[in-house]
Amino acid sequence: MFVKEEEITPKDLFGDMNKKSDKKSDFFCFIQNITVSLYHQNRDMKPGQLQNDSALDFILAGNSTVTFLNTQSQNRFTFKVTKPKDKDLHYVSVLTGADTFTFLGSIYNNNFKSSKKSTIVESAQSFQVFNFVFNKLKAKNLPNVIEIYHEGNCGRCGRQLTVPESIVSGFGPECLKKIKTL
Ligand SMILES: [Zn+2]
Repeated sequence: MFVKEEEITPKDLFGDMNKKSDKKSDFFCFIQNITVSLYHQNRDMKPGQLQNDSALDFILAGNSTVTFLNTQSQNRFTFKVTKPKDKDLHYVSVLTGADTFTFLGSIYNNNFKSSKKSTIVESAQSFQVFNFVFNKLKAKNLPNVIEIYHEGNCGRCGRQLTVPESIVSGFGPECLKKIKTL
């Protein structure tokens, strides 16, 4: 049923609190989510933005897509970082066209390097940008002009994020549990 805005009463918005129903718990979940988003708004975080101190965990979680944005130049690059099972290795590729990622290099022993399979040269801006940000994150001194965003997918399994808390952390509820117990 369509309700005109001026006709909405507090009872419509909050539900009848005297009546026991599942609606009440829905309402409290909703309030919790508002608190989460306000908290992050206060800290000047934009939707999808990862905090610098947790960005590296996201990038190396196994199936991540991240965007590095330079807020001064508005220049941005989107990278995909995947990890083959049972190997201490990550593959890095860069978005080079609509849904097209091109292999850039690999991370081994915590070092990012070009490899024989790379078709993009080390002097390319995309390579330099990933190398710069990756090393700055490791040293915990990323300049403020650079912001890191996830693209709405879980960093560990790559599935689309839907829960507001997940959009903040970059991990779905199940993957977040696994990441925390590491
Ligand atoms: Zn996940």
